[in-house]
Amino acid sequence: MPAPPANVLTVVGGYRVTLNDQVHLVNKQRRCSCGRRTCRAIPAVEAYLRAGGQRAPTMGTATTNHTFPCPICQAEAHGSLDRKDWACTLDRAHFFTWRVQRIQAARREALKSFSPYTREVLSAFASNETRAAFVAAHPLKYPAGA
Ligand SMILES: [Zn+2]
Ligand SMILES: [Zn+2]
Repeated sequence: MPAPPANVLTVVGGYRVTLNDQVHLVNKQRRCSCGRRTCRAIPAVEAYLRAGGQRAPTMGTATTNHTFPCPICQAEAHGSLDRKDWACTLDRAHFFTWRVQRIQAARREALKSFSPYTREVLSAFASNETRAAFVAAHPLKYPAGA
């Protein structure tokens, strides 16, 4: 029996499929997160299961973890938003995107109470920090300048 394709991973409630560096999340109803009915991720999951791949645990079972929609993409996330300890099943970088958004929101709130001078200084730092976090969360997958 051939080994199950390595680009399919089991997640709670579905399958995470990597095609050409793009991540697709196929749920148990055979719908893909990308919305295309003919998405190649769907037959990839079927091939994975035919080859003896592990079946995805159903949502709400097999885990005591709390699950909720990812605040970035609405795909399933597990962990706790309150504890700021969670992971999106579609893309782990969403956690960092969310942290950056929260930092930016908190900073906007804080800036309201500062003097124009302090605001200038802080916004200069804000852009560096935001850029660094963005670069960390979104590694370049295409040639620079494309
Ligand atoms: Zn897809
Ligand atoms: Zn997400």
